[in-house]
Amino acid sequence: TTIGATFDQQVAKYGQELAVVVRHENVRLTYADLGQQVDQVARALYDHGLRHGDRLGVFMPNNLAWMVLQYATSKLGVILTTINPGYRLHELEHALNLVECKALVLTPTFLKSNYIHMTQELFPELRNCKPGHLQSTRVPSLKSVIVVDNPLEPSTTEWRSVPGYMDYHSLLSIPASADSASALSNPAIQPSDVINIQFTSGTTGSPKAASLTHRNIINDGFFVGEGVGYTSKDRVCAPVPLYHCFGLVMTNLACMTHGAAVVYPSAVFNAEAALQAVEAEKCTSLYGVPTMFIEKLTHPNMSKYDLSTLRTGIMAGSPCPIEVMREVIAKLHMKEVVICYGMTETSPVSFITNRFDLIEKRVATVGQALPHVEAKVVHPETREILPPNTDGELCIRGFGVMDRYWNDPENTAKSIDQDGWMYTGDLAAFDQEGYCRIVGRTKDMIIRGGENIYPVEIENFLFEHPKVQNILVVGVPDKKFGEQVCACVIPMDAQDPITVQEIRDFCQDRLAHFKIPKYVLNMEMFPKTASGKIKRIDLCAIATEQLA
Ligand code: ATP
Ligand code: MG
Repeated sequence: TTIGATFDQQVAKYGQELAVVVRHENVRLTYADLGQQVDQVARALYDHGLRHGDRLGVFMPNNLAWMVLQYATSKLGVILTTINPGYRLHELEHALNLVECKALVLTPTFLKSNYIHMTQELFPELRNCKPGHLQSTRVPSLKSVIVVDNPLEPSTTEWRSVPGYMDYHSLLSIPASADSASALSNPAIQPSDVINIQFTSGTTGSPKAASLTHRNIINDGFFVGEGVGYTSKDRVCAPVPLYHCFGLVMTNLACMTHGAAVVYPSAVFNAEAALQAVEAEKCTSLYGVPTMFIEKLTHPNMSKYDLSTLRTGIMAGSPCPIEVMREVIAKLHMKEVVICYGMTETSPVSFITNRFDLIEKRVATVGQALPHVEAKVVHPETREILPPNTDGELCIRGFGVMDRYWNDPENTAKSIDQDGWMYTGDLAAFDQEGYCRIVGRTKDMIIRGGENIYPVEIENFLFEHPKVQNILVVGVPDKKFGEQVCACVIPMDAQDPITVQEIRDFCQDRLAHFKIPKYVLNMEMFPKTASGKIKRIDLCAIATEQLA
C-alpha cells in the first residue's frame, strides 16, 4: 500500500494516542492532530502547484514541519528529497539540480550557517518575485522557497521582508481550495512510485541519490518496528537526523505503522538533551549510531537521569564495539537493544538482531535477514555464492532494494544486477543459522604486504584498552608494505594520551603481528558526516597528512 493510505488508517485507529513530541519546539500532537496538519499542508502545497511526481527538497534539522511534510508529500505523491542540512552552497545547488526540485523548504539558520544568506546568493531573483513564482537561473526547476521558523526562537534574520519567500506557518492557516481535497486521495499514486530521494552518507566518496518507493520504505519501517516489538504504548527517543533513513524510516515509519510515539529531543544531536527527553517523556526506546551512544554513556551528567523506562533501542550505521553494547544494557537499561545493518539503498535495514538473543550473540553478528529479504555472500570477483563462514561481498534482494540512483543509470547498473541483487560493497559471512557477520567494507580493507586486514577487528580489540574512549583504524600509505595500520584514538583523558608502546604492549601475543598498529595518533574528535557517522575517507587523509 502507499504511505499516505497507511497513515490515514493509523490516524483513524490511534486518533487519541500521542504521535509526536518535539521538545525544542514545545509541541505534542496526537495522531488526530497530526493527521489534520498533514491534510492542511498537503492541500496548501497542492494549491501552490505541487503535483504527483514533483520533487520537494527539505533542507533543515529535525522539527515538527519535517514530519508533517513527510506525510503531506506522501499523500500528494510528491517526492520528498531529503538534503543534509550540513551541505554547503555548491552541494545544495548540485542536489537541487540533480533531482530538479520544484520547491525547497528550509529553516532561516542552522548551526553556524545562515540559510537566508545562502539562498539569496543562490536565488537573487527571490527579491523580485511573488511566492511560488521564482525564476532562478542557477536552479531553473525551482519555483518556491518555503521558510520554517521555530516559534520558540524566531529568527532575527530578516527573511520576511524578502517578497519571494513563503512562510510555512501561513500554509497552516490559509483556507485550502475546494479542488485540493481530491488530491489527498489520488488513485494514480501507486506503491511502486518513488516517494523519497535520499543521499547516501558519503562515507566512501560523494553521496549518491537513492530513489526509494512507498513499498520500499513502508515495509522496511514496519518490519523494523516488528523487530523491536513496538506497540502504541512505546515512546521512541530519536536524536538521529530525519534526512537519513534512520530518522525517516526506522523512527517515523516504524512508529507510525505501530501507533507508537516519536520524541525528538533536539534539532541536532545533543547527548544531554536525549537523556533529558528519555526521563521527561518516559521513553521506552532510544536510538543512535554507536558514537552517539558513546557520547551519552560518557556524559558527566548521565547518572542524574532516571532512564529506567527504557526497554529497547536501535544501534546502527556502523559496527558496535562489544564494550559499548554491554554498557548500553547495564547503564541505560536497554535490555532488548537491537543492532541493525543496512544502507540507504536498501531502505535501509536488511538485517536485525533478535532482541531476546544473548548479548554475546547480539554483538557478534548483525542478526538475521528481515522477513521477505533475501541475502547471499559472493566472491567479490567471480560473484559465485560462497559457503557459510566464508567472507565475501554481501548482496541483498527483496522489497527493500531501491528503485534506482536518480538520474544515474550507470551507477544503478553497477550496483543492482539484472536479477535484482544489490551489491552492498560490504564484506560479510553467514553462519549455518543465517546470522550475518559484517567484516568491513571492501573499500576500508587495509592491504599490508598482501595481508587483508579488517579495521573493525582491531578496533573491537583495542576498545577494551582503559585509556581508549573511541578508536578508528585506517590504512596509511607505506613504501615497503603498500599500507600500514594506523590507530586514531580519542583518549579517555586528553591530558593523558596513549602511546604507540602502550598499544603495542596491549596487542602483544593477542593480535597477529601484521595487525598491530605501527602508528598511533591521539585526536580530540573524528571528522563526521552530518548523519553522525565517522567519515573514514577524511580520517585516512588526516592520518596520511600527519604522518607524512
Ligand atoms: P556512501 O555510500 O555514500 O559511501 P555510506 O555507505 O556510509 O556512504 P549509508 O547508506 O548511510 O552511507 O550507510 C550504509 C553503510 O553503513 C553500509 O554499507 C555499511 O558499510 C555500514 N553499516 C550500516 N550498519 C552497519 C552495522 N550494523 N555494522 C557495520 N556496518 C554497518
Ligand atoms: Mg554506501
